[in-house]
Amino acid sequence: LTVYKGRESYIIGDAIPERIFSKLRGDVVKTCLAQYFCELAITICPREQNSEEFLKLILNSLYLLSENKRSAQLIKPCLEMRLASLAGYMPDLRMCRICGEYLCDNMLFLPKSGTIECADCHRENGDMKILLNRSSLTALRHTVYADDNKLFSFALPESDLDVLNEASENYLKYMFEKDFSTLNFYKTIS
Ligand SMILES: [Zn+2]
Repeated sequence: LTVYKGRESYIIGDAIPERIFSKLRGDVVKTCLAQYFCELAITICPREQNSEEFLKLILNSLYLLSENKRSAQLIKPCLEMRLASLAGYMPDLRMCRICGEYLCDNMLFLPKSGTIECADCHRENGDMKILLNRSSLTALRHTVYADDNKLFSFALPESDLDVLNEASENYLKYMFEKDFSTLNFYKTIS
């Protein structure tokens, strides 16, 4: 891309595609998810700074989606949580923030603060909470703490993937104070 800086916006002078994810075009659900990935990039990636890591992560996600290497339900929360973490919004998922419990059957993820509390310690205050079992907790930690080359390498039952997606979506919603319109549309058709 050749980009010129205008007074209030940027102007694209010319662009040459390096890679076209043509398989995405044949699947309307995937196209919509890819649009959400782009909205994430526009919202989260830093401006006028070297953002190679962000670009690599987004291109990897588009590639995995396009080539059917991983399910959409697995790629999405990985991208969401990792992008947020890269941008400085890393949640603290190490242990229950009150008693220090590391793993239990009923851990609650609090998207508003990006922390976890075990069910024994949690006191209801009206804030949103997402109940994580052991595997969805482990998976959520994986999306944040795993090495880059292992980020997308895990498997999870469908019901746990749903919980993982709920956690990551809501975390981004709170952190970036945004209701992503492309996500809402994707959810209406997927
Ligand atoms: Zn606790």
